[in-house]
Formats: sequence, structure tokens, C-alpha cells
Amino acid sequence: MYTPSEHRYDTMLYNYCGTSGLKLPAVSLGLWHNFGDITSLANARAMIHTAFDLGITHFDLANNYGPPAGSAESNFGKILAQDLGGYRDELLISTKAGYDMWSGPYGEWGSRKYLLASLDQSLKRMGLEYVDIFYSHRFDPNTPLEETMGALETAYRQGKALYVGLSSYSAKKTRQAHDILKARGVPVLIHQPSYSMLNRWVEESLLDTLGELGIGTICFSPLAQGMLTDKYLGAIPEESRAGKEGTSLSKALLTEENLKRIKALNEIARTRKQSLAQMALSWVLRRKEITSVLIGASSPEQIKENVGALDHLIFTDDELKEIDKYAQDGNINLWARSSDEK
Ligand code: NDP
Repeated sequence: MYTPSEHRYDTMLYNYCGTSGLKLPAVSLGLWHNFGDITSLANARAMIHTAFDLGITHFDLANNYGPPAGSAESNFGKILAQDLGGYRDELLISTKAGYDMWSGPYGEWGSRKYLLASLDQSLKRMGLEYVDIFYSHRFDPNTPLEETMGALETAYRQGKALYVGLSSYSAKKTRQAHDILKARGVPVLIHQPSYSMLNRWVEESLLDTLGELGIGTICFSPLAQGMLTDKYLGAIPEESRAGKEGTSLSKALLTEENLKRIKALNEIARTRKQSLAQMALSWVLRRKEITSVLIGASSPEQIKENVGALDHLIFTDDELKEIDKYAQDGNINLWARSSDEK
């Protein structure tokens, strides 16, 4: 039996999401890895408990998280029913559709047919009547943007999603999507791009656009899938994302150049009396456009360490200059195909 900590709202920082009235925790938890059927449900449960006890109210999912696809939502649904049934109004739950989910022509990309069927499936798997945020997971170059945005509008009007969002859309496509939805009376709450010290594409124009349009920003893979922690400073641990076969973090991304950067950044983190993971998260949060960092984890301890980033968010100009020497594009942006669509 789980009873949430009475102190869960004592230390977390909550930021308004763009110009909306909705606050997000500065650190949110994503269920992409380590919540599927191939991993321990007891560990998944412990991570959700730890997160909620620390004031993490936002849990991010997608239809295809697992493996197998769909199982992260089913497992999250089990944990909700078992432990958090009475806390639905304290939770912000998001899901997405866009990537490959089921066979045939209607199981991926951005058609109205796919998005609305997928949202219904997600709600069923999680045992929910509505999600708080429903995202278009990626831009679809072969479907009119009006159609994809129309599907988001329908989900919003049906009350199956309280807010809608975009993920990995370029600045230009974000503006177009925003304009289409605005004309229909639906605000784009949030954008979910990848952003970290080794992947800075959003700085080119996306963050300025989001700031101008009043859209909030939640950055995924802020630890570069674990590369921006101390775990790869020595040999690659077997039980790490890069150590396991067939995960989204290929060993090939741990190039000599990237390892040099990571080691130098680790030294800077030490002088700030933070772990590298904590500095990487504080660094993403330094930009005023950022509402939340969307972390992943494989243990409750990692979540605790990562939330500790909030104890030291301020950077001096000298620190930022020093970080800039090493915080350079490490060719790790696996989602560029979507955001490269200009
Ligand atoms: P991170 O960059 O935070 O990487 C998380 C991984 O890093 C963990 O699973 C763990 O891996 C390792 N790690 C985390 N904290 C520590 C620590 N303190 N010390 C050592 N290692 C640590 O994020 P993810 O790549 O997992 O993505 C986070 C979320 O973002 C996803 O769950 C999903 O919700 C969202 N996302 C969205 C996408 C989109 O297209 N919209 C795409 C990708 C992610 P290990 O197993 O090695 O311990």
C-alpha cells in the first residue's frame, strides 16, 4: 500500500507553461524506457512513487512506449489504479501519437484516422477518461497540417485531451500549426523538443518562436539518454542504456570526441558542487522559455539525484562561457528528421 508523502509539494519548483495558467514541475518524468513489459513492474512502481513524493506531478507517455509498444501505458494504468487512483487531479498525464504503432496504413504518422483511434487506445490502456496533454509526436510531411491539427482540435473539443502539444516540429511548422489551431480557438500549450548540452538545435530559432507565441517548452533527453551523467566516464556498464543491445542509445554515439566533452563538463560540474547529471539539467533550465526538463530513469535513486539539480540553478557568465567550449553538437539528435522539415 502506497501513501504519498505529505511533503511532496514542499521543495519542487513549478513553472507556468508558456502563457497558459497551467504549471508544470521543473522536472518531469518520462516513461519511454524502463516501464515496458520487459522490465520490472516493481521498479517502475517504485520510480513513480519516488517521483510523486518529490513533487513530480507530470508523467509523459506515448502510445508506442514499451517494449512492447503500448505496455508502458498499460503498466502506468496498473500503477495508477493500484496506488494513485485518488490522486488523478494532482497528476498531469500526457500521451502522443505519430510513430509506428500498429500494422497497416492507419498505424502511424499524422492522419486524423490514426491520431483519434490511437488516443482512444491510449485512454483504454491507462484506464483514463482523458489525458491532460495529447501531442502530435512528429511532423508528417505527407498529411496536410490542417488535418493533423484538426485531429488535435477534435480531441480537445471531445474533452479527451485538456490541452494539445507538438513534438519535434521545426520553428516554421510550429508557427503554422499554432496559426491553424488559433484560428479554430485552440491554444497550443506546449512543444516537446530534444535539447541538451550535446544537442542544441532548438537554440537556432525554435526557442525564440516558442517564447514569442507563448507556448511552453518541455525538453526531452536532457541528459542525452544518460551520456551527460558520470556513468560513461569509465567502461560502459552492462546494465546501462548504451550497454544493452538494441536500445535507442547506440555505443557508436559515445565517440572519443563526445567522451572528451563529457569529461570536461564533468569537471565543471565538480567545481559547481553538482553531479554532471544535475548540471546538465540546471543548464537546460537556465533558458526562460523552458518550462520543464523531461528526464528518464532506471532507478528511484536517479530521480532523487536529478531533482537535486533544482538546488543549484544559477550559472555565472564565466561558467556558461566555459561550458560553451564543450557543450557542442555531438551528432546525437535522433529526431532531426521531423524537425528538419522546414
Ligand atoms: P534522459 O536524457 O534523461 O536519459 C535518461 C536515462 O539516463 C535513464 O534512463 C538512465 O539510463 C540514465 N540516467 C538518468 N539519470 C541518471 C543519473 N542521475 N545517473 C546516471 N544515469 C542516469 O531522457 P530519455 O532519453 O530517457 O527521455 C526522457 C523522456 O523524454 C522519455 O521517457 C519520453 O517521455 C521523452 N521523449 C520524447 C521523445 C519525443 O519524440 N517526443 C523522444 C525521446 C524521449 P540507464 O538505463 O543507463 O540507467
